Amino acid sequence: MTRLLAHDILFTPMRIGPKTAPNRFYQVPHCNGGGYRDPSAVVEMRRTKAEGGWGVIFTEQTEIHPTSEITPFIEQHLWDDRDIPALARMAEAMKSHGALAGIQLAYSGINGPNLYSREVPLAVSGGPILTFTSDPVQARTMDKQDIRDLRRWFVNAFRRSRQAGFDLVCLYGAHGFGILQHFLSRATNHRTDEYGGSLENRGRFLREVVEDFRETTKGEMAVTLRMSLHEAGAYGFSNAELRDFIAMHGDLPDLWDLAHGTWENCSGTSRFKPEGAQEDLVRGIKALTSKPVVGVGRFTSPDAMVRQIKAGILDFIGAARPSIADPFLPLKVQEGRYEDIRECIGCNICVSGDMTGAISRCTQNTAFMEEWRKGWHPERAWPKGASESVLIVGAGPTGLEAALQAARRGYRVTLAEATTTLGGRVARERALPGLSAWGRVADYRTGQMAPMPNVEIYRDSPLAPEDILAMGADHVAVATGATWRRDAVARLHLHDIPTDARMALFTPDDVMAGRMPEGMTVALYDDDHFYMGSVLAELLVAKDNRVHFVTPAAKVAEWTENTLEQGTIMRRLLELGVELHLGKAPEAIGAREITLGCAWTGRQMALPCDAVLHVTSRSPNDRLYHATRALDWQGAGIRSLKLIGDAAAPGPIAWATYAGRAWAEALDQPDPGDALPFRREIAQLLPPDRITP
Ligand code: ADP
Ligand code: SF4
Repeated sequence: MTRLLAHDILFTPMRIGPKTAPNRFYQVPHCNGGGYRDPSAVVEMRRTKAEGGWGVIFTEQTEIHPTSEITPFIEQHLWDDRDIPALARMAEAMKSHGALAGIQLAYSGINGPNLYSREVPLAVSGGPILTFTSDPVQARTMDKQDIRDLRRWFVNAFRRSRQAGFDLVCLYGAHGFGILQHFLSRATNHRTDEYGGSLENRGRFLREVVEDFRETTKGEMAVTLRMSLHEAGAYGFSNAELRDFIAMHGDLPDLWDLAHGTWENCSGTSRFKPEGAQEDLVRGIKALTSKPVVGVGRFTSPDAMVRQIKAGILDFIGAARPSIADPFLPLKVQEGRYEDIRECIGCNICVSGDMTGAISRCTQNTAFMEEWRKGWHPERAWPKGASESVLIVGAGPTGLEAALQAARRGYRVTLAEATTTLGGRVARERALPGLSAWGRVADYRTGQMAPMPNVEIYRDSPLAPEDILAMGADHVAVATGATWRRDAVARLHLHDIPTDARMALFTPDDVMAGRMPEGMTVALYDDDHFYMGSVLAELLVAKDNRVHFVTPAAKVAEWTENTLEQGTIMRRLLELGVELHLGKAPEAIGAREITLGCAWTGRQMALPCDAVLHVTSRSPNDRLYHATRALDWQGAGIRSLKLIGDAAAPGPIAWATYAGRAWAEALDQPDPGDALPFRREIAQLLPPDRITP
């Protein structure tokens, strides 16, 4: 395995102001749902990126002052000196293998509702807070004193960042989230003083903050500007204006970090955005500045990266999600281990961790944010314990990850799959419109196991309970997946509804097996609320069906707010002519129509249709497990028999890969009993100095 000569360019050191990055792999700031709440978990996550060879590593957004914070989202804080130690540990971890350590500083202005700090939000121009959650809060317009205060708060943050040991500061002015963008954009800047109006004026605050940075850090640190490439709308800071601004101030920062307009645009899922999607918006910007340019694009292919550099589009390859899915991406390219790259599938489950205030997880990298909590590593596994062999039944995402991790630990692994194809649900879902990248979940794991001498994979091998007993494995995991229900039972209907046997009923499994209505009127009932309903609606339209999308929710695919897709899905369905019935659910299914009930008023209406597709919930395929458990499995020498993944509790693919990993990691480990199954940090109590009025 040797690196292709063409990829050498990715490993040339690059200057960023007074600092030099060892290569062109640039981990742009990204959230992780841990932030200030889980400092050590975030530190160890960043340390794996350092170990994996990234040249530049950034924190997530770090809030510099309590007058601007985005609770319920959990990011970093740099509110006073007491926040420095956690960030200093972060900088140390980032630099542990030679990378430059960067901190992203954010003041959210019109985007920060201050639900925690209760401070009055300050904005370039006052108005309702622009959040995902439409918080009923308005911001006050900053006066000149506020602007001077904010400059001072930035200076405090620069000083603290330097004290914490960072090399780079990133000023956040992208995604509509940072006040620097709010100043620049006519959409959010309505000022009539010297900070509003002309582009020169709108850029004044940014210039002042950069001057303050230079004065405070005295050439010891570099500053980068993270800017939106294009803000949509008549008043948005457009790509043309951005180019004008860079032409005017090309040498202002030490590096330009360019990201698409909104976060939804910048971090689109693979269903809607291909690799390198922002290329047209970045091309030509390098010619406007002598400073290096970084851009993102969910880059996982070294050829695509090299092309960006050779074509003079980018100097650094920016990556958030590819660095989450594979923290060792740079090292693998450097060593020519291309087949080992664990490619991001573009599902945005990582984003959902931030959006829900949970700790993030990654479908592909099961160790993400478990590096400290559980001691998992993206590349290495703990050596095996006393037992020798494991049998895994079912080669879906759960079974494949369980097998790979058990094999890495050194067990003799047998993986039995009923069908001729490995991948389970991803083998089926990858054929659906827009979901081909899902297949990477199977491809990576089968590719990794192929050369391993301690893995035996049996396809076309549906196991019965007696087979399991006869295989003689020390440990058995049953990962037989789940089956979509053929009825309305999910969240709204906890019991089935009256259904006429003459109505043609379909499930997602039918459709994925090629059994679907064609040229009909179909009522698609979605009480799942994730991607499947809208994906199947698209497919049904392509098969000449007239599709009625029925959901009790107020929005289609409402959970996809958390994967930043909801608006795009809505647009897609409307463009396809799918008829939406929001806030409605079937109450009865007749031979040629369904009775829809309004979720709010109970008012009913008849919807004539030829077929119903239920996208409701899934039943675990756990019969094999229970039947095996009913036998004398311990007598057959099996030490543990576990039901894992969708077969235990159906969930997203990331939950399945996680379940596979958790099972493999627990092999031969002492039973934790009632102890907490992960490490956590608890806020340190201050002395009890009660203040009473
Ligand atoms: P998960 O997401 O938990 O991995 P999947 O449904 O994707 O679940 O995968 C389950 C896999 O288990 C499928 O590929 C299915 O063919 C396989 N399977 C189901 N029953 C058996 C069995 N009795 N023997 C072997 N494989 C089975
Ligand atoms: Fe990529 Fe999905 Fe992992 Fe996020 S969760 S890094 S989108 S594979």
